[in-house]
Formats: sequence, C-alpha cells, structure tokens
Amino acid sequence: MGVPKGKRSKSNNRHRRAAQKLTLPGFSVCPQCHGLKMPHHACGQCGSYKGRVIVEKAAE
Ligand SMILES: [Zn+2]
Repeated sequence: MGVPKGKRSKSNNRHRRAAQKLTLPGFSVCPQCHGLKMPHHACGQCGSYKGRVIVEKAAE
C-alpha cells in the first residue's frame, strides 16, 4: 500500500477544504436562486427543477 511521505500541514488541508466545500456529494447549487439543494430534487427554496417551477411556494 502507498503510504504518505510526510504530514500534511494545517494550511494545506484548509486550502483544499475551502476549495471543495460546496462540491461535496449531497449538495448542488440551484441555478434559479443559487442556494444549496439536493441533486435531482426540486429546490427547497424556490421549488424549481430544470429551469421550471415545479412546487408552488404558498408563502409569497
Ligand atoms: Zn432554488
């Protein structure tokens, strides 16, 4: 098995985590309201999916 040659610095870890923060599996960005939403689901904030509004929001 490959073994890491040295300890990764806190700085290196934080740089990487900052870059991948929003791309973790389980979330994607809504093109309508730019909020986080579940992939392959209608958006929880604006109710849109694939550019169309699927779920009408009553509180508007
Ligand atoms: Zn949305």
